[in-house]
Amino acid sequence: MSQPARVVIVTGGSRGLGAGIVRSYLESGDLVATCARSITPEVELWQKEFPEQFLWQAADLAKADDADSFVKAVIDRWGQVDVLINNAGVARDGIHSMFSDEDIDTVVDLNIKGTLYMSRAVGRRMLARRSGWIVNISSIVGLSGYRGLATYSASKAALDGITRALARELGSRGIVVNSIAPGYLKTEMSHGLDEAQLGQIVRRTPAGRLGDPEDIARVCQFLTDPANTYLTGQVIVVDGGLTS
Ligand code: NAP
Repeated sequence: MSQPARVVIVTGGSRGLGAGIVRSYLESGDLVATCARSITPEVELWQKEFPEQFLWQAADLAKADDADSFVKAVIDRWGQVDVLINNAGVARDGIHSMFSDEDIDTVVDLNIKGTLYMSRAVGRRMLARRSGWIVNISSIVGLSGYRGLATYSASKAALDGITRALARELGSRGIVVNSIAPGYLKTEMSHGLDEAQLGQIVRRTPAGRLGDPEDIARVCQFLTDPANTYLTGQVIVVDGGLTS
């Protein structure tokens, strides 16, 4: 017998990795909500193709009010949230000694605060139902660091800290919390890397390629499977073996 549809929130699902994760849950028959600051052709397509199964709302998750109103829109429509994928993220690179206040704020406000706002708003609903699955999309640079990415690396290490703390705080209420730390993916975010850097990454990756959104979406599905009630508080590295 097939599983009943679950309500899944994927933040930053308008493109890149988030869009791959949205597609994966839509294909599983789940009810999927996503947000970002701007709508994209892919989102417009889902609105037409999945009118009953898909919800879009523009939101800037660096603002607590936007996060709360997005979660409220999902609850108003479907009454619950089963799965939260905290995917929206931003990177700024540059020598840290020259970094602007604005760049530090942009990264911290979305990557750390946005994740905390969403986890707080959704966590309240999950606590009431004593059930839920949260995945934070961190990064291998939160584990190993990367030259020019001090603020971004700090923000991703923070996500892994949030994962461990929330897994402890929410575990007794049936809520599972994990991080996925991707390696380098073929998305807009990695366009900042030049050919030489990308070539070096691919040469050093045992799998011999950059990651696809589908590589990560598959692990999201595994971690948020209704049967997963025991794998929690972990950081799952999905990087083609780069850091092995
Ligand atoms: P991306 O292509 O730049 O997409 C980022 C998504 O987040 C977009 O939908 C974007 O839409 C949304 N977003 C950005 N700022 C936002 C805000 N203030 N409020 C709400 N949504 C916002 O990035 P990606 O490569 O798919 O990355 C997705 C996640 O994976 C990020 O957390 C990233 O750190 C992580 N990651 C990526 C890689 C990689 O190699 N690409 C590796 C490891 C981890 P708008 O701009 O319209 O708001």
